[in-house]
Amino acid sequence: MRLTEQEILEIFEKTGALLRGHFLLTSGRHSNVYFQCARVLQYPEYAEKICRLIANHYHSTEIDTVIAPAIGGIVVGQEVARQLNKKSIFAEREDKTLSLRRGFILEKGEKVLVCEDVVTTGGSVFEVIDIVKSFEAEVAGVGYIVDRSNGKVNFGYPQFSTMKLDAVSFPREECSLCKEGIELIKPGSKKIKV
Ligand SMILES: [Zn+2]
Repeated sequence: MRLTEQEILEIFEKTGALLRGHFLLTSGRHSNVYFQCARVLQYPEYAEKICRLIANHYHSTEIDTVIAPAIGGIVVGQEVARQLNKKSIFAEREDKTLSLRRGFILEKGEKVLVCEDVVTTGGSVFEVIDIVKSFEAEVAGVGYIVDRSNGKVNFGYPQFSTMKLDAVSFPREECSLCKEGIELIKPGSKKIKV
C-alpha cells in the first residue's frame, strides 16, 4: 500500500527526524521546525518503506545505475538500487567538489537515476548530474525523499519527491519564538530530546 504524505510525516515525527520547537539553523536563522533525514533512515524498515515510493515511481523507467551524493544520499541510493536490483554508486566531496572515487565509473550511454535524501537548493544533485554528463551517461531521473525547496528546484529531468516540507525560517530579529522567550535549541547539541 502506498504511504501517504501524512503517514510519512508521522514516521518523521516518531523517529525524531522532524522536530518542532525553536531552532538555530546553521545559516544563523531561526525556525520552528528542524529536519534531520538520517534519523528516519537509521531504521531500515522505514528506509525501505519510504524509498519504495521512489523505486515504484521509476519502476518502468530504463535504469542501469543509481548514483547519490555522499553522505546523505548514500542510504537512499543504496535502498532504491536494492529494490530496483540495479548497481549503486556514490559521489563524494574532495576539495569541495563532488567526484567519483573508489574506482566507480559510468559508461557512455548508461542510464542513471540520481537519488538524494533532502533537496533544498539542489546543489549536490546538480553536481552529480554534471558528473553523469561528464561520462556521457544519461540522467534517467532524480528521486529524493524530501523537497525543501518550496517548489523552486527544477533539475531539467524527470524528478520525484516522496513529500514536500516547506522550509520556513526567520532572522533572529523577526523571530516570534524569541519574543515569546522560548528556549533556543541548536540541533546536534545534547539538548535535543525526543
Ligand atoms: Zn528565535
